[in-house]
This record gives sequence, structure tokens and C-alpha cells, in this order.
Amino acid sequence: MSHDNGVAIVISCSDGRLEDTIARLRELLKQKSYPSLNSETALYRIQVPGPDGILLGMRGEDHKKVLLDDIALLIEKANATSFVFIPHCECAGCQVSDEAHADNCVQAVDILNQEFSLPVVSLLDKKVGDVWQLEVIAEKF
Ligand SMILES: [Zn+2]
Repeated sequence: MSHDNGVAIVISCSDGRLEDTIARLRELLKQKSYPSLNSETALYRIQVPGPDGILLGMRGEDHKKVLLDDIALLIEKANATSFVFIPHCECAGCQVSDEAHADNCVQAVDILNQEFSLPVVSLLDKKVGDVWQLEVIAEKF
């Protein structure tokens, strides 16, 4: 099977308010020109409560290890070629300030890139009025 558009692992929160995140992500990717990551890229999803808290080890090394193992599985078995990391504001699973979530996005890019040597874009899902909006915080390609 060929994947001209790449395969990305999208790591986001299990919060049901964000069920349209993928549709909004695809719209955003139409305006970007990342290598092997565009609006047609095949996506695998990992949804956990407070993904930034887990990846940064705030809930302990056991939780972090499960997440890293799931990622390694998708890289090996699904030939994933990039990451999209999307924590969000007002997160029950990682209760920190909006500024701290943004800082977590920056750290997540470094952690994922160093662990797996794949490109990463990290976006923060922010509530503006009643509308959730994705903001690119950090990227490494
Ligand atoms: Zn959440």
C-alpha cells in the first residue's frame, strides 16, 4: 500500500467536546505545506485524557510508558511518519493554565522528536467564545 500523503499519529484528548478536532485539523492542514503531512494524510488517533500531562510524565512514568508503547506500535505496524500533538484548554485530564498548555506543546515536540526521530507539529485547541480553534504552537520537520 502506498502512502504518498504520509501517515500521521494524532495524539489528542478523549474529551467528547472535541469530536470535530480532526475535521478542523484537515482544514488547517490545507493551508500548510508540511512534508508528508497534509489534508489527505492517513490518520491514526490516540485519545487519552490530558495527553500533554501524560507525555510530560505528570501522571507518572507508567502512564507515559503506555503512551510511548502505543506510539511505537503505530510507527512499526502502521508505518506512521509524523505526529500531530493536540492538547486543549479547559482539560479535565491536565488541569493547568492555557500558558502552561502552550509550554507543554513546545516540550511535547522535543520529547516526540527525540524519542522517535519523526517530524511533529503541536497545536493547542483553544476555546474562543463558544468555538474551539486550533493554534499551531510548535513544530519540527
Ligand atoms: Zn482534555
